[in-house]
Amino acid sequence: MSQPIERESMEVDVLFIGAGPATLASAIHLMSQVEAFNKGAEAAGKVPIEPPSVLVLEKSAGVGDHMLSGGVMNPKAIAELVPDFQDQGFPTEYVCNYAGFWVFHPKGKLSLPAPPNFRKKGYHVVSLNKVAKWMGERAEAAGVDIYPGFAGDKLLLEGNRVVGVRTGDMGVDKEGKPKGTYAAGMDIFAKVTVLGEGVRGTLSKQLIERFELQGDNPQTYETGVKEIWKINPKKHKPGRVVHGMAFPEILKGFHGMWLYDMQDDLISYGFVTLLENENPNTDPHLQAQKFKTTPWMRWLLEDAELVRYGAKCIPTGGLYSQPKLYHDGALLVGDSASMCNAQNLAGIHMAIKSGMLAADTIVEALAQQDFSTKTLGGYAERYRKSWAYDEHYQARNFAPSVQKGLAFFGLNEPLRMISGGRGLMDHMSLDPGHTHMKRLAELPSKERERESFEFDGKLTFTKEHLVGFSGTVHEADQPSHLVVADTDLCSTTCAEEYGNPCEKFCPAAVYEMVDDSENPGRKKLFIHHENCVHCKTCDIADPYQVITWTPPEGGEGPDYTQM
Ligand SMILES: Cc1cc2nc3c(=O)[nH]c(=O)nc-3n(C[C@H](O)[C@H](O)[C@H](O)COP(=O)(O)OP(=O)(O)OC[C@H]3O[C@@H](n4cnc5c(N)ncnc54)[C@H](O)[C@@H]3O)c2cc1C
Ligand code: SF4
Repeated sequence: MSQPIERESMEVDVLFIGAGPATLASAIHLMSQVEAFNKGAEAAGKVPIEPPSVLVLEKSAGVGDHMLSGGVMNPKAIAELVPDFQDQGFPTEYVCNYAGFWVFHPKGKLSLPAPPNFRKKGYHVVSLNKVAKWMGERAEAAGVDIYPGFAGDKLLLEGNRVVGVRTGDMGVDKEGKPKGTYAAGMDIFAKVTVLGEGVRGTLSKQLIERFELQGDNPQTYETGVKEIWKINPKKHKPGRVVHGMAFPEILKGFHGMWLYDMQDDLISYGFVTLLENENPNTDPHLQAQKFKTTPWMRWLLEDAELVRYGAKCIPTGGLYSQPKLYHDGALLVGDSASMCNAQNLAGIHMAIKSGMLAADTIVEALAQQDFSTKTLGGYAERYRKSWAYDEHYQARNFAPSVQKGLAFFGLNEPLRMISGGRGLMDHMSLDPGHTHMKRLAELPSKERERESFEFDGKLTFTKEHLVGFSGTVHEADQPSHLVVADTDLCSTTCAEEYGNPCEKFCPAAVYEMVDDSENPGRKKLFIHHENCVHCKTCDIADPYQVITWTPPEGGEGPDYTQM
């Protein structure tokens, strides 16, 4: 490809990257607020805003197809966005009427009083996949264009100003050569680009790193593994919302689980593993499988059928890990802006609210035709005055408290609850999770070995089997979208020091160390990129930070229908 590449280009006023709750709420609110502004301007004899051209790019084949969430949503933000959302057919599965906090132990389960962050009565159990589709339809009805199947690949800059995004090339073979189907990525120029790519977004990472927008703390993460099962109708309880943990395993490290009943006798089950473990053998998929063998879960699922599988990371750092929310020509919303309230495992309402606050700011920018930080900085001010900031402020020391270990957490939590989120110390610092991983030689000898576990194929399944339930599809003949900067490191230093943790932390069996026929006795990395479920764990957890997740061809990846 030595010839200069000819690219199509287009211009819009506002460009949203990702069709998640944050950007879709933003697009819907933007259209209604422009209308409201113009009504006011007409009455006051002022200049109206030209109806803006608004485009949403989404990497999945259809809106919602890459959505994965536990699915119990605080309804306050959707009620602000669409006050009659229930009459408008919002896809609520059930409204929570029981919020349990259970400890699962070798003899059954113990129900404890739910701590304040898990009191979710009145919250809506949802499939985020269906919610995104519902929001997408509303956005389109309001005049927003949505292009699914297009991944934002690179930020377009003029000097230090973001002026748009280049989409990924299509039809390139695994050697990097154009195939018959080749189409160069498009340059899309915009007055303002709103990054709502969710967790560990590609363009958000580029923006934050290049312009040093990271907040006081680095971001930290968990990996959530989710399964949907169809259970025996006699065991199904509409409105049930359970959060819990396993005992005695909880004494060895933090984890959490959820169980929410959905329509049609389905349940959403998920297990969350912190990505700041000392042991390189930590395996979020295995944890999720083992949890199902606790007696109560075994009883629940003994006559049930697995329907779907997937995984996705959750940004947990909270307020002090929040990047600067604006830059010349760009705004960050939702998980890309660390809006998720990990203390409550609740990010959907925060994403929606941040999108709405961004939209209010864009209306002002359109009215003034100023898309510099002078006007876009109004987003941070609006956020600071909102309930979303108050909620985040209350949870501000949660992630650092978790990182200090169980003993500190146990002491600090009650104090944090009664001191408005302060606890023993305020503005606590955090380390990046991967720096907590120890070399095998530093661990007690019995923890160095990989755990052996027999998957029974009925209740517990291998990664390879479960990937089939994620619906993920990637063209094999394309460059791997998992870019490993130094694969020699995998065969040598990493094998010795950490025992290749990528084989463990990836929940989709993408990374495999195979015999290297050219170097007998040595192994080399093989990447099954077709299996990737876009969870982003590898980009985060690799101890050497040499793995970069990049968007594959638009339209590829999991199919998270119902998730
Ligand atoms: C396992 C798990 C359980 C959770 N449980 C709950 C819960 O019960 N309740 C709750 O309130 N919150 C929960 N959350 C958090 C909540 O789901 C998120 O905070 C919320 O979805 C964030 O919304 P978003 O719009 O910022 O990003 P997302 O929902 O992640 O959407 C981002 C979209 O952008 C697309 N995208 C990404 N990069 C690109 C690109 N470069 N080009 C084009 N498109 C791109 C993605 O495909 C995706 O469709 C959970 C999260 C996880 C992972
Ligand atoms: S390759 Fe990375 S992003 Fe893909 S499933 Fe594995 S850990 Fe997740």
